[in-house]
Amino acid sequence: MDAIDKSQYTPMMRQYLTIKEDYNDAIVFFRLGDFYEMFFTDAYLASRELEIQLTGRDAGAKERVPMCGVPHHAADAYIERLIQKGYKVAICEQVEDPATAKGIVKRDVVRLITPGTYMEGTSDDINYLASIGINPKNYTISYLDLSTGDTYSILLPKDLNILINELLQIQPKEIIIANTIDESHLEQYIKSEGVLVSYNSDIDVPSVFDHLYQTLPSKEEKKTFKRLLNYIIKTQKRELMHLKDVTILEASSYLRMDSNTVKNLEITETMRSNNRIGSLFWLMDHCETAMGSRYLKKQLLRPLVNKNTIITRYDTIDVLNNEFIVKQELRDLLKNVYDLERIVGRISYGNTNAKDMVQLRRSLSILPELKEKLLALKTPHTTFLADTIDPLRPLYDVLERAIEDDPPLTIKEGGIIKEGYNADLDAIKNSALNVKEWLHELAEQEREKTGIKKLKIGYNRVFGYYIEIPKGQVANVKDEFGYTRKQTLTNSERYITEELKQKETIILSSEEKSIQLEYELFIELRDQARGYIHTIQQNANILSEVDMLISLSISSEELNLVRPVLNDDNTIEITDSRHPIVEKVLTDDVFVPNDIVLNKHTDILLITGPNMSGKSTYMRQMAITAILAQIGSFVPAKEAHIPVFDAIYTRIGAADDLVSGKSTFMVEMLDANNAIQHATTNSLILFDEIGRGTATYDGMALAQAIIEYIHEKIGAKTLFSTHYHELTDLDKSLSKLRNVHVSAKDQNGTILFLHKVKEGPTDKSYGINVASLANLPQGLIERSKMILNNLEEQHDQLIDHSSINLFNFDDFETDNSEPEIKDEIIQLLEDIDIDELTPLEALNLLHKIIQKL
Ligand code: ATP
Repeated sequence: MDAIDKSQYTPMMRQYLTIKEDYNDAIVFFRLGDFYEMFFTDAYLASRELEIQLTGRDAGAKERVPMCGVPHHAADAYIERLIQKGYKVAICEQVEDPATAKGIVKRDVVRLITPGTYMEGTSDDINYLASIGINPKNYTISYLDLSTGDTYSILLPKDLNILINELLQIQPKEIIIANTIDESHLEQYIKSEGVLVSYNSDIDVPSVFDHLYQTLPSKEEKKTFKRLLNYIIKTQKRELMHLKDVTILEASSYLRMDSNTVKNLEITETMRSNNRIGSLFWLMDHCETAMGSRYLKKQLLRPLVNKNTIITRYDTIDVLNNEFIVKQELRDLLKNVYDLERIVGRISYGNTNAKDMVQLRRSLSILPELKEKLLALKTPHTTFLADTIDPLRPLYDVLERAIEDDPPLTIKEGGIIKEGYNADLDAIKNSALNVKEWLHELAEQEREKTGIKKLKIGYNRVFGYYIEIPKGQVANVKDEFGYTRKQTLTNSERYITEELKQKETIILSSEEKSIQLEYELFIELRDQARGYIHTIQQNANILSEVDMLISLSISSEELNLVRPVLNDDNTIEITDSRHPIVEKVLTDDVFVPNDIVLNKHTDILLITGPNMSGKSTYMRQMAITAILAQIGSFVPAKEAHIPVFDAIYTRIGAADDLVSGKSTFMVEMLDANNAIQHATTNSLILFDEIGRGTATYDGMALAQAIIEYIHEKIGAKTLFSTHYHELTDLDKSLSKLRNVHVSAKDQNGTILFLHKVKEGPTDKSYGINVASLANLPQGLIERSKMILNNLEEQHDQLIDHSSINLFNFDDFETDNSEPEIKDEIIQLLEDIDIDELTPLEALNLLHKIIQKL
């Protein structure tokens, strides 16, 4: 907002303007009575975005101030809409009691809600706030989910592609960078992903948080994390006891997949519509709790590489599959478990209500039985999980004694605390109850005294307690009764008496007292629960894992999955492999299972076959099988022997990279390069029609060279599909390449897809047959058949398989050794920490560099 002359406004508007100065990048929700009001540009913006009426307010100046507002009790929905649109909302409350305030009521911002700190999202949604450290020698990312307190840190090499790729995977809603950093190189990512950027260079955090980041090994990681924490402390102004110690994510501890692979394999959402339905997560998620679903999703995005952990999960699934009664009992227990991670977040945060406490109590109530059932499974792992559960009996008992079963949402209206929990509260409530009984008796007495049978005693907010006499009986009201007329209605008159007024005061003040006492008792209970936060979180972790394991067991039965056998000799032998999602959604056809075999004699499968025959499906099912196996799940096949992969690289389907404005072909080459540079013999590479994005000969030449390079230099297990029939000749020169094709047959000019993968190359491409299925004009189809015949007649042998034995890729390895002086200067520059460099040091350094040159 431009500078405004505050002096022309009323004191309240001046107060608003002063507060707004500190929250220029946010929409300020300014509390006035029962409303949050927005003024000036915020009002224009909010009225447009929220479709609410723009009005004006006299505020001292000549012109009315533009204003719009939302009722405070309905504010949450409006705030959510603004947050989803990428805005920040500053909640400005009255921070003193208007009744005792001298002059204008003090107001202050009590919380800044931002897309990354929004805690009220839907259950399996994970809302991340990330802080990025752009350091001389590396990049660091710290990120957290404020609603659950889960916190992570990653150290990355100084490679912008890797940084952006990691961010694309994390999908933070908001990123924090230091003020001093020029983020222009991240700009494309930020724009195309619609991520909100906040600046914060402050790394001051209170020492109570030291334990959270002690394990972080480097100065840079600590700094990035502290910047994140500082931002949260500053914006949230709440207790943050629920934050968990930082989990350090090391690339070597997980199956690596870049963001394109995650997208292409449709792990959490489909490519076409970004929909959860149709994704692998959707297929596999049978969790009873939101915590279990989130845990499963995280596993799918970072599958394991530790063979023992994976095998432990297989063992557990095996047992669960056999112990179906215990499994069902465990599921039934889990149905009573609420989102403990988020409840703990709200307890820590101070925005919990009594319903949360009831949910906490119900969740705790099942723990003893859950423990028992886990022990009944008798595996070392389930016994370990059972032993780690702490049923928190003392907390459960106090919640059971204290909190009503169905309390209201608000904690300021009473109805929360059970009878028998607190003697003072019971006494207050009893006295009110006695008065109510007295009222009942009074009505009886008055009826007798007046002889008016239809006399009633009632209550309303304006007049309090009254005696009501029907119109027809009013004449019987005598002066000696001491009735004072208060209200005339169509059919009756209402009166009050001195006595009634006195009792009313007692009732109302005891109601007020009991509400206040209930509130205080609730806050006491909440504080008590705070003492158990870490144990509740530990229980939540176990419940999430148990829920996920049961979900995997259910999938294994529903989807007819088999326990894989993991090997160390890098062999893939899968019998009757299936694509579980295609299989599930096929309506007319039955899915045709296929074997996938890449043993010690084969590293590369070259897959040919007509369009639409099932090449991509075959490749994807291999990747999905590997991912499922490595989250500890059974896999879609009759039998599966597979290694533990260290990474999956894919280039499947055409995709423009809108993030960095690259063309389909460029993205294809970048993906190919990423795989070639980083894949090892333990990696899985899936290349779907590499090279098709450019001129035929270039494409084919590149495809051949890529295949040769993988064969000679990497030895990663690779599935390579192609329409370049010529490449099938490569099996003559590459001993570890095998041709397979997906079969189809020509049935009276119409192509029939068999979806069966067979040995050897395809004999025919059928491209024109497939095109005719799309109902292209018959003349066009005939003409293309003619052209094809001509081309085939002219066709020479294109593939170059003579030279591979003579060609040595090593001769062309880039010479990375820089001249010595250049090395030294690069080192000097890399060592600079801009944040800590003084101007004098900068000058000295410059001098040193010039001297060296
Ligand atoms: P293109 O070369 O045009 O990219 P493609 O050979 O990669 O085609 P896919 O996309 O894998 O073909 O498969 C096309 C469709 O065929 C799938 O959507 C699915 O409906 C069906 N399909 C694929 N594999 C099988 C199978 N094994 N059993 C039954 N149906 C299958």
